[in-house]
Amino acid sequence: MTDTKELKSQLEQRLIALEARVANLESDLRTAHSQDWEERTSEISGDEVLEGLESSAMDEITQIRSVLKRIDDDSYGDCGGCGKEIGAKRLAALPFAVLCIHCANRAAS
Ligand SMILES: [Zn+2]
Repeated sequence: MTDTKELKSQLEQRLIALEARVANLESDLRTAHSQDWEERTSEISGDEVLEGLESSAMDEITQIRSVLKRIDDDSYGDCGGCGKEIGAKRLAALPFAVLCIHCANRAAS
C-alpha cells in the first residue's frame, strides 16, 4: 500500500491555504461597489478575474477533499474504473488521479 500519511498532511495544509484564499476572494467580491459608472465597469471586469480565481480554487478544494476521502476509506491509489492500482509513478505526477492510465485513456478517447 502507498504511504499516504505525508500526502495527507500536505493536502490538508493545501486545503487550509485554499480555503483562506477563497474567503479572501469572497470578501473582495463583497466589497461595496462605487456608484460611478466608469469605475464600476472596471470593478466588474476585476470581479470576473476574482471569480475565475475563486472557481479554480474551489475546483482544487473539491479534488483535494475527494482525495482525502479516498485516503480515509483506504481506496486511494485504486482505479475508480477497474479497481486496480493506479501506480506510484502516475500518482506522483498526478496526485489527484482517480483512474489508472488505461481507464483514463479509454475515458479520453
Ligand atoms: Zn483502471
